Amino acid sequence: MKSIGLDVKPPSKSCDDPICPFHGSLSVRGRILRGRAASLKAKNLAVVEREYLHYVPKYMRYEKRSSRIGAHLPPCLDVSEGDQVTIAECRPLSKTVAFVVVEKVT
Ligand SMILES: [Zn+2]
Repeated sequence: MKSIGLDVKPPSKSCDDPICPFHGSLSVRGRILRGRAASLKAKNLAVVEREYLHYVPKYMRYEKRSSRIGAHLPPCLDVSEGDQVTIAECRPLSKTVAFVVVEKVT
């Protein structure tokens, strides 16, 4: 297993997925984000939901917003729905996926 250049704990399992940053040839670069694994229905895909606060000047308050990001989920990572995960930007893997899950936080 190779190092991916990020400070994350490596998966204990192994896999033969070519699109795995640890056991395949996928390199990660760019943004590192954290969010909740909202949906794991699609194969090898995690929909990661992130909540953030957006300031509304008229009311001088914050409103809660959320965004959903599709991220490739390599089979060596044991993630279930609702877990906090770390995702890292990679090359575009499909029309809507340019991130890969690199760590399960909780
Ligand atoms: Zn792997």
